[in-house]
Amino acid sequence: MRVTTLGGATHYPRPGNACSGYLVQSGDTTIWVDAGPGTLAELQRHVQLEDVNAIWISHTHADHTSDLLTAYYAYRFGDVEPRPPIPLFAPTALRERLVDFLGGSAETGLDLVFGFADLGASPAGGSAVIGDLTLSWRAVDHDVPGFALRVDGPDGSFAYSGDTAPCAALDELAAGCEALLCEAGAAGHDLGEKAAHHTPEEAGATAARAGAGRLIVTHVALGLSGEEAAVRAQTRFDGPVELARPGTIFVVERTAPVAG
Ligand SMILES: [Zn+2]
Repeated sequence: MRVTTLGGATHYPRPGNACSGYLVQSGDTTIWVDAGPGTLAELQRHVQLEDVNAIWISHTHADHTSDLLTAYYAYRFGDVEPRPPIPLFAPTALRERLVDFLGGSAETGLDLVFGFADLGASPAGGSAVIGDLTLSWRAVDHDVPGFALRVDGPDGSFAYSGDTAPCAALDELAAGCEALLCEAGAAGHDLGEKAAHHTPEEAGATAARAGAGRLIVTHVALGLSGEEAAVRAQTRFDGPVELARPGTIFVVERTAPVAG
């Protein structure tokens, strides 16, 4: 299984760093995970639009979803081979938001392009098989309904926090995974604040509790460099800590993990 970082910028995209988006691939199967601004363009460095077998969205914030708007135009009106609707796993509110934004005939058009599946349909989470890969998700602890993802494939397992404060659902979902991609969107927490993100230390602690083989830090808080975040995460986790730099491809396998 390969995990490609399309971008991991926090709040807004920068030159050379899109917001959150990843490709998870195994064999002929390609899943686009989060569609932050800039990720549709970056995705085309690695695969054709026709190659995407499913899209999975952690929560409705624009830094994880806004490229779905332009993906809609690409798949509906672009030079992409006609194809059946792409399974789109997303929180309930997303479909309505896209319809509102696109307006007009978008409601019918959206259903031609995307096959919506509601991540929140069951409080216990859910799962789906897409080609070589089994996706499983659980609701996590963000300031809007948010979900974390686990992907199991023939070569191993991978987990992604989405945006969330540390929580038991993420620990359980990520348990024993070969690689955990975890956000570190908080530099620290104010006293009494309801947290919506991990600090880097908390990302390390989540990886340790889950027994992850390695930790990949992403979505790093403003004011922190990726390197600082990795060093802080490492204080709470004994395994390898890496950074989700744009374009980095992580090979996820059961033995001898390799970062490319
Ligand atoms: Zn975010």
